[in-house]
Amino acid sequence: MRRPIIAGNWKMNMLISTAAEWVEEILGKSPLSDSVDIIVAPPFTALAVVRERIEGSRILLAGQNMGPEAEGARTGEVSAAMLKDAGCNYVILGHSERRQFFAETDELINRKIKIACDQGLNIIFCLGESLDDRDNDRTHDVVESQLAGGLADFDTGQLDRLAIAYEPVWAIGTGLNASPEQAQDVHRFIRAWLEKIFGSERSAGIRILYGGSVKPETSAPLMAEQDIDGLLVGGASLKSDYFYDIINFSQ
Ligand code: PEP
Repeated sequence: MRRPIIAGNWKMNMLISTAAEWVEEILGKSPLSDSVDIIVAPPFTALAVVRERIEGSRILLAGQNMGPEAEGARTGEVSAAMLKDAGCNYVILGHSERRQFFAETDELINRKIKIACDQGLNIIFCLGESLDDRDNDRTHDVVESQLAGGLADFDTGQLDRLAIAYEPVWAIGTGLNASPEQAQDVHRFIRAWLEKIFGSERSAGIRILYGGSVKPETSAPLMAEQDIDGLLVGGASLKSDYFYDIINFSQ
C-alpha cells in the first residue's frame, strides 16, 4: 500500500507575508490528515518563513527547482545541499514549465535527479505530453522517452527517493484536467515501465502523482483510481482552504 502524497506547487507566487499567512490558516484548521504525506513547495524566498511556521506540523517542504551542479560558480542557482540546508525534504524536477520556458532537457533533468538523490533529497519527477502529442496518439511514446531520459542510469538503491508526477501539459494551469480514466491509463503505463526497468518488487513503493488543474471537487475521483498515488496541485494550492479540502478529499 503506497502512502498518498498531496503536494502544493506555489510556482512564482506568494510573498514572505502571504506565505506565513497561508501556513497559519492551514494549521488553524482541524488537525491535518495523518494518512497522507503533505508537501508544500514555496518559492525560494519564502522557504525560511514556511520552514519556521510548519515546524512541529506534518507539512514537509520542497524546492521547486535546483541547479545541476553540486556547488560552484553558477550565479543565480540554488544547489541540492542548499535546499537541504533550507529544510527541504523534496525537490520538484522536470516540471513542464522548466522544460518549456527554460529549455530543460531530459539529459539536464537526469543530472539534477542524480545530484538531488546523492545529496539526500527526495524527488518529484514531472513528465507529461503536450496536446499535440495526445491528439496524435503519442502520449505513451513521449512519457516513455521522458522516463528513459530522466531516469537513465538511475541508482536502484535510491528508488525510495523517487516519486513521479504525471502532468499532461495541456492540463497545467488551463482549467482542463485529465479525466480519472485518462490519468489512470498513463499511470498504469508508467507503473508497467517502472516494473519492466526496475523490477516489480523494487518499484512497488514508487508513488505516481497526477497534476493538472486539480481542484477540491476533482481530487476524490482521481484518487479513487488504482494507480494514482497522490496529487501535485498548482493554482488550487495557493488557497489554503482549497488545499485543505484537497487533502481531506484525497484520503
Ligand atoms: C503544477 O504546477 O504542477 C500544476 C499541476 O498546476 P495547476 O494545478 O495549476 O494546473
